Amino acid sequence: MTQTNSTTKKTVTTDKSLPRRHSPRDNARNVDFLVKISNILAKSLDIHALLEEVIDQIFYFMKRIDRGAILLLDKDTGELKEAVSKVRTSNHVNARINWSRAVAHKVIKEGNPVVLSDKSHEYRSGSLGDIEFDGILSAMCVPLRYKGEIQGVIYVDSITLPGGIRKDDLRLLSGLGDTTAIAIQNAQLYEDLKEELNERRRAEEALIKANRDLEETRDMLVQSEKFAAIGRLSAAIAHEILNPVNIISMRIQLLEALEGISESIRKPLRICKGQLNRIVTITESLGRSSRTSEKRRVIADLNETIERVVDLIAPQLRVDGIRTHVELHSGLPLIPMDKERIEQVIFNLVSNAAVAMTGSENKVLKITTKPNPQGSVLIAVSDTGAGIDPGDIDKVFDPFFTTKDPGEGTGLGLFIAYSIVQEHAGRIWAENNESGGASFYIDLPIERTPKRS
Ligand code: ADP
Repeated sequence: MTQTNSTTKKTVTTDKSLPRRHSPRDNARNVDFLVKISNILAKSLDIHALLEEVIDQIFYFMKRIDRGAILLLDKDTGELKEAVSKVRTSNHVNARINWSRAVAHKVIKEGNPVVLSDKSHEYRSGSLGDIEFDGILSAMCVPLRYKGEIQGVIYVDSITLPGGIRKDDLRLLSGLGDTTAIAIQNAQLYEDLKEELNERRRAEEALIKANRDLEETRDMLVQSEKFAAIGRLSAAIAHEILNPVNIISMRIQLLEALEGISESIRKPLRICKGQLNRIVTITESLGRSSRTSEKRRVIADLNETIERVVDLIAPQLRVDGIRTHVELHSGLPLIPMDKERIEQVIFNLVSNAAVAMTGSENKVLKITTKPNPQGSVLIAVSDTGAGIDPGDIDKVFDPFFTTKDPGEGTGLGLFIAYSIVQEHAGRIWAENNESGGASFYIDLPIERTPKRS
């Protein structure tokens, strides 16, 4: 250690000038330090955590220093940026310190370690800038070099102990610089890989979503084409059925008008008439479902239409013990619609909801409207009924689909509602509520979109 004093007099020194021999205590300390550091470097792939641990260990092993920082070169700007820093009086890693820029830049420029003390000539000459002014009594700085390229520096100094930093500290710090540079590089590669993986995952997710959207759109197109075809077919069949039905109906009226017919004949005639009326109702609604109402559309207030339906059906809802909540958005835009047909849709949904709540203890019907930012209005009709069997949710709009007892339902209400909403270039769908019951949603566009005929 006697050689040390002569070396400290040199202002700037490199590894080559350091003494080769160390005391057994120094050796043990150095080995301990290097083992600890290599453990840290091997296990951490988080750059920041890694550098924080490195600086903690430097402080633990180098008792003469009281400030330190690891500075990294920004590849784009060439600027030195503080990655971590520490002050001995503060346990707080990343307490900002006034590291000597002159010393750090000298190391970056020349690529050699620098050690200096208040006794050195260079220190006093002012060639290292602000160092004395900042109260730095000794400093040490080593490059972080990977494959010949300097990535930054490890900088430590003392502002309390004059007389320099120990020489073997510089040797230790230099060795640490090289291994830390490799670890930084590994962590950087890991970060890049992680980012690349994340990007790939994001791209995959976007692709899956695009695929799903495409499938949904295709299903909707197929569905609307299917409904349009069914609608046209129904209209033709309805027309064909109504003609003979009219003839049968007239004949029955003639028979009923005959005198002297016994009750045993009148009764079956009444039954036939009743069933014929049922055929007429069904076929007429089938015919109506496909009739376009383009010409009857006017710009109207949907809230008013809903209020009219609710007024009409309110007495029945009260009798059924159903509480009705109507929340209509006051700023709802007007929309182009066939008021009568939309009224029919709302009426169907409300009647279905009422029927679905027949056995429920708590019967609540909720009707809401609100504008949709995508340029449409959304109507929701929710109930607290039995809900829809999940297996049926895709079928409820199919013609003749009904879960009602024979003679009770036609299975045409929702089919007609679907056709009408389609005519308005809108969307209708059903969902089960989490709290029980079902909700039907209708989305109607504000602007009229031209429809293919
Ligand atoms: P119908 O009422 O004549 O059966 P719809 O087309 O109106 O014909 O309805 C078809 C089916 O959809 C119903 O039979 C019922 O199973 C189901 N459904 C409709 N509305 C509701 C509702 N609010 N809650 C539960 N199921 C419903």
